[in-house]
Amino acid sequence: MGKDKKKETDQKDRVQKDILQVKTGSIQSFDYDLFVIGAGSGGARAARMAAQAGLKVGIAENSYLGGTCVNVGCVPKKLFTYAAHISEDIKDAAGYGWQAESLTFDWSKLLTNKNAAIVQLNRSQERMLMQAGVTLHWARARLTGPHQIDLAGDLVTARTILIATGGWPHVPDIPGREHVITSNEAFFLEELPEKAVIVGGGYIAVEFASILKGLGVDVTQIYRGPLFLRGFDDDVRGHLATEMRRHGIDLRFDTQVARIEKSGSDLEVILEDGETIKTGLVLYATGRKANTAGLGLDAAGVERNPNGSIKVDAYFRTSQPHIFSLGDVIGRLQLTPVAIAEAMAFIQTLTGGQLQAMDYDNVPTAVFSNPNIGTVGLSEEKACRDYGDVDVYLSRFRPLKTLVSGGQGQALIKLITDPATDRVLGLHLVGPEAGEIVQGFAVAMKAGATKAQFDATVGIHPTLAEEYVTLREKRPASGD
Ligand code: FAD
Ligand code: NDP
Repeated sequence: MGKDKKKETDQKDRVQKDILQVKTGSIQSFDYDLFVIGAGSGGARAARMAAQAGLKVGIAENSYLGGTCVNVGCVPKKLFTYAAHISEDIKDAAGYGWQAESLTFDWSKLLTNKNAAIVQLNRSQERMLMQAGVTLHWARARLTGPHQIDLAGDLVTARTILIATGGWPHVPDIPGREHVITSNEAFFLEELPEKAVIVGGGYIAVEFASILKGLGVDVTQIYRGPLFLRGFDDDVRGHLATEMRRHGIDLRFDTQVARIEKSGSDLEVILEDGETIKTGLVLYATGRKANTAGLGLDAAGVERNPNGSIKVDAYFRTSQPHIFSLGDVIGRLQLTPVAIAEAMAFIQTLTGGQLQAMDYDNVPTAVFSNPNIGTVGLSEEKACRDYGDVDVYLSRFRPLKTLVSGGQGQALIKLITDPATDRVLGLHLVGPEAGEIVQGFAVAMKAGATKAQFDATVGIHPTLAEEYVTLREKRPASGD
């Protein structure tokens, strides 16, 4: 048997032995086979799956079931996005003959309905955990030893522990920091301001700029670099900037905030070049940090990365082999479906008898800006770096709907392929429902689809997505 093969077999044997111990409690008896800290996207899924596999599972949650995504992330954000897009639909409606009179927008009604919808989701999360047989502890958990957890004074022990405590907004230390809000508070604003300044150039900043603008707020977005959404395809970034400006959002790039001051009931954002912007609200969306404060990582001997996220190996094992961690707190891809997929891999390791890693290739993602971005695979810039020579197909066009509505917005679609293998390396879309469209193409990409297979696919007409199977003209790659 080769050395590598033997190592793999030994690892599998060890995992199998651990599982036996979990099931029979043969070494030492613990209160739980698995204790999960954090009932968000990753933790709740792992707890349910482990309990369904027959393990005795406990979970601690100190704020809300469903975590960031359900309460202050994906779900309420998407609901706000729907509200914001409706204002555009109403504009479009006129060209189609619909006359809407005395239309008003009631923010407090949206907030009330959004909050009620979230409560329903919280309840359904609780039901699912209960039905699976998971014991829920409403407490802030703190590790007090390798196998021991303090739950607001009650101590429990567990053979295996999973840390899935997510992230928390990070606001840089600028003068006037106390006057700003983060996305956490943006979901509960008592009233909408007339003007808002958004600082940051990532997902949250771009999405909230579009949401607030759609709801009638005058928005200025400030980003420190030359073009927002660093890491996305450059054509996509540029196209979105053009479209957002067309919607009336004041985008300021290469700009930094020096300080923020209160001036009566307003705020003043003073930029580094001395300009002052008066506004009713300043929203900082400058990234999120691992949520590990007071978690007792040192007591349990769990190591961190330099940026504060929890250090794990390919199988989500921390520096303590019986303590695992996944989701936003490990600082990889901060997306709900990724946290869930990591949880599924962890469960496979815990109960399936073999170490299971997560495949991060071709993870699709959407930015729910107006218009949306949908993307899977490599940007042109990354493809050029990794493959040298790539083919690029790009098309910009006005979606059919605008022919009658009179809208001026353009969609962008783009494919990047590897001339050596004909495989599609990157697929990008800026346009309506981009996330919905790209999800399907992500399956094709995962299956290793080639440009020839795209070309051999018959389109669905008239749709925006059909453009992907009719792209014939190459455009020189930026690396050429
Ligand atoms: P979380 O969901 O954050 O869950 C962690 C849980 O642990 C929380 O409930 C927290 O209260 C609890 N907790 C923390 N510490 C303790 C403790 N000591 N004891 C007990 N409980 C504790 N992703 C997408 O895929 N699509 C989107 O559209 C999207 N939109 C987003 C919009 C916003 C504004 C934000 C902020 C995020 C968005 N995300 C989106 C990212 C997504 O929400 C996260 O990637 C996902 O929630 C991560 O799941 P998690 O399980 O790692 O952590
Ligand atoms: P991101 O990491 O996406 O973006 C942070 C932004 O803040 C970047 O533009 C960054 O600039 C900028 N920034 C960081 N530090 C500073 C500073 N000190 N001063 C000025 N600007 C700064 O974080 P977000 O907070 O937007 O979102 C967190 C994560 O949540 C996302 O990465 C994403 O994974 C997830 N999310 C997913 C969504 C979705 O799937 N649709 C929606 C919302 C969030 P620079 O690029 O120059 O570093």
